[in-house]
Parts: sequence; C-alpha cells; structure tokens
Amino acid sequence: MRRILLLRGAELIVFAALAAIPLLVVNPYALGLLTLLAIYGILLIGLDVTVGYLGQVNLAHVAFLGLGAYTAGLAVTKLGLGMGPALAAAMAVGLLLGGLLALPALRLEGPQFALATLSFAALSTTALNELESLTGGAQGLSLSRPPVFGHALTPPLFFWLCLALMALVWMLMRNMLSSQWGRAFEALRDSPIATDAMGVGAYRHRVAAFSLGSGLGGLAGGLYAFNFQYLQPQSFNYDLMIILLLGVVLGGRKSLWGAFVGASVIVLLPNLLSNRLLFQIFSASGFALALAAGLRGLVKKITRPFQALAPVAAMGLLVVGGLLVENTEDWRKAIFALMLFSVVVGLPEGLMGFLSLFLAKLFRVPQAPLPKPSDIETILPTHEADGAPLLVLEDLRRHFGGVKAVDGLSMTVRSGTIHGLIGPNGSGKSTVVNVISGLYTPSSGRVLLRGGALPTGSLFRVSRSGVARTFQNLQLFGELTALENVMVALKGVYRSPLPMVLLGLARQEERRAQADALCLLDRIGLRDQALTRAKDLTYGAQRFLEVARALARKPDLLILDEPAAGLAHPDVVQLIEIIKRIHKRGISIILIEHHMDVVSELCHTVTVLDGGKVIAEGSPDEVKRDPRVMEAYLGQPPEPGPSGTSDPSGAPVPEPA
Ligand code: ADP
Ligand code: MG
Repeated sequence: MRRILLLRGAELIVFAALAAIPLLVVNPYALGLLTLLAIYGILLIGLDVTVGYLGQVNLAHVAFLGLGAYTAGLAVTKLGLGMGPALAAAMAVGLLLGGLLALPALRLEGPQFALATLSFAALSTTALNELESLTGGAQGLSLSRPPVFGHALTPPLFFWLCLALMALVWMLMRNMLSSQWGRAFEALRDSPIATDAMGVGAYRHRVAAFSLGSGLGGLAGGLYAFNFQYLQPQSFNYDLMIILLLGVVLGGRKSLWGAFVGASVIVLLPNLLSNRLLFQIFSASGFALALAAGLRGLVKKITRPFQALAPVAAMGLLVVGGLLVENTEDWRKAIFALMLFSVVVGLPEGLMGFLSLFLAKLFRVPQAPLPKPSDIETILPTHEADGAPLLVLEDLRRHFGGVKAVDGLSMTVRSGTIHGLIGPNGSGKSTVVNVISGLYTPSSGRVLLRGGALPTGSLFRVSRSGVARTFQNLQLFGELTALENVMVALKGVYRSPLPMVLLGLARQEERRAQADALCLLDRIGLRDQALTRAKDLTYGAQRFLEVARALARKPDLLILDEPAAGLAHPDVVQLIEIIKRIHKRGISIILIEHHMDVVSELCHTVTVLDGGKVIAEGSPDEVKRDPRVMEAYLGQPPEPGPSGTSDPSGAPVPEPA
C-alpha cells in the first residue's frame, strides 16, 4: 500500500492539481498553455514508444500530428461529424498510416529508418499543402469545436477533456508497457534476433509499436485541431519535429513522466525565447544542471572528461548568448541544437532519469516483493525420452558465395540424448545451428523434427516448434533485468488479449510469469540477481542466463552454441551441472563445445565436422581416437605410437593456429 502510494501518489497529485487550476485562476493564456501541455503529453507518450522503447529515430511523428489534425478538421467541416468520432478518426488514421509506413520502414535499421520516416514527413506536408481543394492548402483550414452532448466546450471544459484523455492514455500505456508487450518492445531494441528466437515476433511487435505510437500522434493531432481551430500545413514542419525529439530526449526516454516533463518544456519554449529574463534564468539552470551532471559523472567515473565538459560548454554558450543577443527568437534553431546536443551527451537518461536518481534516494520506493518461485515440475515436467529420432538433417547445405560452410551434412539426434557437435574453428558448427534455428535458410537439404519438416528461414516459427537455442556471441536483452530476460521467453503464460492488458486485468498472469522465471533463474544459480540488468551481470552469469532464457521456451530440443566459451574453470563445472540437470528432465540437447573433457563428460554421441562435412561420428571415446579427427584438429595425420591415440584425461583438443 505504501508502495502504491509512493508510486502513484505523485501521478494523482499532479493530475488533480492540473485539473484544479482552472477552478482557481481565470487566466486564458495559462489555460491555453495547460491545454497544450496535455496535448503534447499524449503526443510525446506516443513518440516515446518508438524513440524510447524501440530505440529508433522516428522523424515522422510530426506528420502524424498533422494528419490527425487535418483528419479531425475535415471530419468536422466536410462530414459534419461530432468531436468524439472526429477524434476517433484522427487516431485511426494514425494507427493505419503508421502501420502502413512501418511495414516497409521497419525492415530497415538505424539511419535508413530515420530517412524513411523523414521522407514520409516530407510527403505528408506536401500532400497537405497541395491538396488544396480538400485541405485549403496554404490558406489553411478553419474549424469550430462541435458541441458535445449539446454543450459548447468552453476553454476550461476542453482543457479537462484533454487532461482526461491524457490521464487515460497514461494509464493504458502504463499497463501495456509494464506487460509482456513492453518487454517485447525493449527486447527487440536490444536484440531483434534473440527476440525472434524466443518466440516473440520482433517484426510484428515493431509494427504494432510504431502503429500505436503513430495512433497517439493522430489523437493528439485531433485535439490540436480543436484547440487552435485553425490549421496550416507549415505548422507541422521540421522545426517542430526537432522540438518533439528534444522533448522526448530531454524529458527522459522510456518514461511517462519523461514525456510529461518533455511536454512541459516544449510548451514553455516559445515563452523562453520571447522573454529575456526567463531565457537567462533557463540557460543558467541548464548550465548548473550540466555542471552537476558532469561533476557527478566524473566523480562516479561514468563519464570521460570531454563528455562531461562538452554540455557545460554548450550551456555556457547559451548563457553568454542570452546576455549578448538582442532577439533570442532569431536564434531558436541554434538554441535547440545546443540543448539537444547537451542532453544527448550529458544527460542520456534525460531529466527524469537524472532526477529519479535523487527521487529514488528521497523516497526509497520499496521494490514489490517477488513471488515464490514456481515448482520446476509445473514448468518443465520430467518426461521419459524414447530414444527415437528427434531431429534429422538430410544432406543439408549452406553456401555463402563460394564458401561451403555446411556441405552435405546428414545427422540424427535421438530424443533424450546430449549430442555433441565438434570441429575446428570455421568447420560450420554455428552455421548448422543457424540453419536449424531458422536464422539462415538452407541452400538445400531437409531438416525434420520428429519426422515432420521443420520450418526454415524463420527463427520465430522454429522457436514455436519446440526448438530453443543460445548464441555463441551473447544475444541478451541488455537493458532488461535477468528476470525480465527469462520472462520475455516464457512460453504458454501470456494469454490475456490486449484489451485486458490495457485495462490492467492481466496482473495475475504477470505474477505467474515472475514465479516461473524466478524458478528457472534459481536453477542456474541467479535467483539473487533476478533484478540486475543483464548487461551488469558477470560474463559467466550472462552465459547461464542465456541458458535459462532458452529453457523458458520449454523446448524439446535445446541447442547450446559453445556455452562454455570464455568461462573460467569453476563456471565450467557449474555449467556441466546445469546441463546434466536439464538433461534429466528429458530435454534433448545439441552441444557445441571445444573442451574435449566437457564433451566426454556430457555427450552420448558426438558428430565431428570439418569443412562443413561430417568426418566422424560415435561415442566421445571413439571419435577422440579417430585419425581423421586428429588430423582435422592438428592439421596433420597423428604420429604413430601411444601419444597418437588420444589422451584419456580429455585435455582440450588443440585448435589449429
Ligand atoms: P564454426 O562455428 O564451426 O566455427 P561457422 O559456422 O561460424 O564455423 O563458419 C563456417 C564458415 O562459414 C566459415 O568459413 C565462416 O567464415 C563462414 N560463414 C559463416 N557465416 C557466414 C556468413 N553469414 N557469411 C559468409 N560466410 C559465413
Ligand atoms: Mg561457431
């Protein structure tokens, strides 16, 4: 209860205080600013979905604001719709066009995605300008606020409407972002490949997130239209786009409060620029903040000197400029540029991120206690393996140009076994795993799981068929906690449809997911670090976490690609223990491993690859004695004599230089 009050109390107080203002002060100008604050709040919450959660630079948001505004405007003027339907239409246009833009654009990454959204923004402003017969072009579009239930919406009433909508959006988004949906958004930002491999479609979640964010942009646009009652295409220009990005980054990404703080800054910006005194106060506080953040970074050794100094210098420039320059309005773009630069370099977590460091100390919100871990039997019930062929590879090939990484490989993995896959570096082991798991499509050949064809070329579909994997080069969701990493992958727990999630009615399954994930973490000895961010775990712990995450898929077949790579000896011992325990549950395992002693201890059958082909297969002892294996590893036939037959102590097989 105390926790709820601490967490939600601030929200209640702020919203109640905002709502009370029109009752206490009669000031049309202030009311206008507050209304804009609520509208921009919705807008930035939407933008934060792509910029914060997906980690993409989205330059199209201003276009959705414009399109939403014009949709609402036209719905009222041309179709005579009421306010509710007009707002719904504005949101629907954002959702729809956002989804359509996302389909091709989200196949792109980084700069290309930013360019795709930039072109969309250019296209939409041009369309609004040139479709004169519809939009009035540069002349603009005038509209009036339609009455609601027969009542004309006075400015205070309209403000309350905007505030209520922002509160609603806030609540629904909070529920969504703290559910499996929010985790999926964050997971795919950190590793789209692993997101797919954990059975959470990265692409569809990206499209959904972008569409959702754009829908909120459209809704904000609708409110914008009814607020100003006059629209011009050039209002939705690049300046505003930069300001919106500034708002999200300055406020703090991945945070509703951040969006709120960012919106407040945006709303106050015009006043800052037109009022000299205000600007000087503002730039001085910016300077102080940059100094504080910089010093803190230096003392805690988390920033380099230049990184700490640059924002201080930039803000200093702003202070000096504020004293020298006559008209700050003329310098607005330079001012935004300096602010954006300082925030990106000096406060990457934004104002809210920075403030929450101190707020957390002041209030000490107690962490919600984690539930009791589930019983492992309910998650991974032990079952007897029958030894029948589980995975069959038939004449599998994967060529990269001239490189025959996998070249006619046939092998059978029997259910209930630990099947070793070894071979020198570059012999094609990881490529085999990548083909089986759907990261690569095979050039030819077949992959059968229990006699049926396994889907090819789709990590997502393979993972849904009961095959889970880890990665040779770790692919954790670095920003998520260890617990959340496992929760993302949990199979068969999240059943509530989106509307229930939005309304916060899916808490039960969230608790269940926590309990299940905690149990799996317990199995790998990471229960105490459940709430540590994955990127802050030790290297060994990260390797184990990937195993636990793969187990959350409740797989029939688990593929481990060099899980011991880079581990210190005690960790290797622990890993062997973990693999044995997984095997006892009846899960079949393909183990790629360099250390021969690990292979000998764990594997029932070993397949040896060289040059993408099988050169030997059998028990660990058999393959170790095989002359072809010796040759592959040593690059020459073994010396005859006792030293040529393998060392029974199981020392690591030397790798070719
Ligand atoms: P291993 O895991 O056994 O060390 P890999 O499967 O990673 O070997 O690589 C086998 C061969 O295929 C190597 O020669 C490697 O350079 C090549 N290879 C692997 N992946 C790719 C790729 N995506 N593009 C081009 N060549 C690749
Ligand atoms: Mg490899």
